Amino acid sequence: MMSNQADGQMKYDLHNHTHYSTCSTFKPLHLLKLAKKIGLDGAAITDHNTLRGGLAVRKLNKDKNFEVIVGSERYTDRGHVLGLYLHKDIKSRVFEEVIEEIRQQGGISIIAHPFRFLPRAYFKREGLSKDSYPDVIECFNSRTAPYANALAGRLAEKLDMPKSAGSDTHFPFELGKCCTVFEGSLREALLKKKTMVFGRSHTALFGASLSFFAKASCRMGLRSWPH
Ligand SMILES: [Zn+2]
Ligand SMILES: [Zn+2]
Repeated sequence: MMSNQADGQMKYDLHNHTHYSTCSTFKPLHLLKLAKKIGLDGAAITDHNTLRGGLAVRKLNKDKNFEVIVGSERYTDRGHVLGLYLHKDIKSRVFEEVIEEIRQQGGISIIAHPFRFLPRAYFKREGLSKDSYPDVIECFNSRTAPYANALAGRLAEKLDMPKSAGSDTHFPFELGKCCTVFEGSLREALLKKKTMVFGRSHTALFGASLSFFAKASCRMGLRSWPH
């Protein structure tokens, strides 16, 4: 697949894990090479609770036409939050505080898979003040059922909020399944609600099973904990 930069359209996958998340075995160099090979123009690395994956991929990237966004995914009391353009790890697990920490760093906050049918992954927005809403809603996530992605899209439209898409990649076959397409700079496109999103959500069960075994192999000492 060719890069899209010739026609001015950029294609980024905004939700990816590396082996710095226990549920993934994807090596930073492999992710970077594959992302370029399949025609992505950029990728956000969003490991659970750490920037180490993003920093590792960014360090390996020597291509100025490929952007690596350092980020993280944080579990909170109201769902999973992605932070993009981060400089330091997020400390809090309280949703409103996490959003504020990302804002303080000049980052962009995204509510990940808001309708994924898991109690801790579901976006609980009851009683949330408008000031504490994330900047963006993830509307395509390849590990989330199609109906849940459709609901996320409808929520973004109802609230008139920017949309993003990311594959929630944990293994190579997942990369690039969901993409955010835009012109110019990603940050501007997101904040001006100028992104287009697309994706497929067929990796949910297979991907989740592989993540289960990846995590179990860490617990059983068959694989070292990410460090
Ligand atoms: Zn998540
Ligand atoms: Zn994730």
